[in-house]
Amino acid sequence: MKRIAIIGGGISGLSAAFTLEQRRRAGVPLEYVLYESAARLGGVISTEYIDGCVVEAGPDSFLTEKPWATDLCRELGLEDQLIGSNDAERKTYILLKGRLVPIPDGLMFMVPTRILPVIFSRLFSLVTKLHMAREWFHSPVASGKDESVAKFVERHYGPELVERLADPLLSGVYGGDSSQLSMRAVLPRFAQMEASHGSLGRAMLAARKKIAHPSSGSPRPLFTSLKDGMHQMTNALAVRLSAPSIRLGTPVQQLKFKEDGWVVSASGAPVRFDSLIVATPAHAAAMLMQSVSTDLANELRGIPYSSSITATLGYGHSVRSSLPPGFGLLVPHSEGRRLLAATFVHNKFSHRAPEDRALIRCFFGGSRNEEILQLHEDEILRIAREELRQILGISAEPLFTRVYKWKAAMAQYTVGHLERLDRIDRLRQQLPGLALAGNAYRGIGVPDCVRSGKQAAEQALFAMGLTSSAAALTAVRSEP
Ligand SMILES: Cc1cc2nc3c(=O)[nH]c(=O)nc-3n(C[C@H](O)[C@H](O)[C@H](O)COP(=O)(O)OP(=O)(O)OC[C@H]3O[C@@H](n4cnc5c(N)ncnc54)[C@H](O)[C@@H]3O)c2cc1C
Repeated sequence: MKRIAIIGGGISGLSAAFTLEQRRRAGVPLEYVLYESAARLGGVISTEYIDGCVVEAGPDSFLTEKPWATDLCRELGLEDQLIGSNDAERKTYILLKGRLVPIPDGLMFMVPTRILPVIFSRLFSLVTKLHMAREWFHSPVASGKDESVAKFVERHYGPELVERLADPLLSGVYGGDSSQLSMRAVLPRFAQMEASHGSLGRAMLAARKKIAHPSSGSPRPLFTSLKDGMHQMTNALAVRLSAPSIRLGTPVQQLKFKEDGWVVSASGAPVRFDSLIVATPAHAAAMLMQSVSTDLANELRGIPYSSSITATLGYGHSVRSSLPPGFGLLVPHSEGRRLLAATFVHNKFSHRAPEDRALIRCFFGGSRNEEILQLHEDEILRIAREELRQILGISAEPLFTRVYKWKAAMAQYTVGHLERLDRIDRLRQQLPGLALAGNAYRGIGVPDCVRSGKQAAEQALFAMGLTSSAAALTAVRSEP
């Protein structure tokens, strides 16, 4: 009987455990133990029900385009619980000199694919519009060294588009700073488009023509979630695992690597395993690896993390009817505010709030504003309410509020990230039986974490001779 330890019970560790559980039930001779330091499974995925509303503490959905989370939900029997974002309502505003300006239609992330909406948009100056027109004639560029997202976008569309669009989008998603984030790790598709077409606009249109077949039916929603919240996914995973294999409230304190496997010290006596999956944030993995390989620990520690806060405020009908239509707003750094973004949750998805409720989720923190984490919840709420008053004119008393703090939860893929991953992989291979999973490596979103957990399980099985699956070999190579 082979024994596998999994450290970390977020979506990455749970996906790894689920893969092992499926194999165990299919008769593969294995046992596993999942160690989780918190008293509950799920990591940053956590949902509460308040006053008829579904309140997400962490992620509220995942990108439909990346299939791994949807596939997992299907495997878990949750297919009928999947819901798509209300894309007919999809309008996002950028705060510009204190006023909300909609992102024009036809902009795919930052790439204009329709001319008229951009020409008439108040979001960009004439200079940026001229940059966009000239971009159409860029020649292919052989993909070379990594660079920051800000530099890449500036080369294509000029500095204003970085400040008003690329940077706020990335600080909303990554809690990151576009002048630090790696183009090749964060937006690999755009780097490939530049290499093949030069112009991102032309590349995007060519890609759209290829997939725009009449048989493809109605377009898929941009985001997918679950009717009763994201924790449906982690709860369904938890009930499918073998209960005696789960150790809650049990932080792993030390690891040892021996010739015949791994020794895990948590509470009680050290326990031996044949294989080990570390599915914690990289900073926690670095601490655990310190006694095993200082080189690997140093590389893991070199992956920075940012912290974030979500503050959800529930209001009544009058606020709901006063809000502009759309999914919410993003705040550029140059506006000098603490709010990074706000989502109108009741618009983005159905099943989130009764008709007479407005649910607004505010984001704070990120790599530029870590110190907000030190503030007391009451002060964070005071700031949130003041921002909503100034930006949206909301002065009503909220019906309920919730603040969630996520310290060092969002990995930042800074310039050179992919080279670091190559070094990590080489060091990992010197430690037979070790697999790494989580948002630190090749994708920060929930679907990528699912994929990383499943692939880590395949790697562990492969290392123990329990599978010859090619999935294990391709695991660490797939693109973000
Ligand atoms: C506020 C917020 C909003 C987000 N929004 C979205 C979104 O809308 N869509 C999307 O796709 N993604 C989103 N993300 C990103 C995504 O949710 C995360 O990247 C992903 O859930 C991380 O999962 P994980 O299992 O890798 O890590 P985590 O969820 O961080 O889990 C790691 C687990 O390891 C445990 N652990 C750590 N050290 C030890 C130890 N020594 N021993 C035992 N256990 C240990 C921790 O307690 C934790 O439970 C968001 C993230 C945040 C924070």
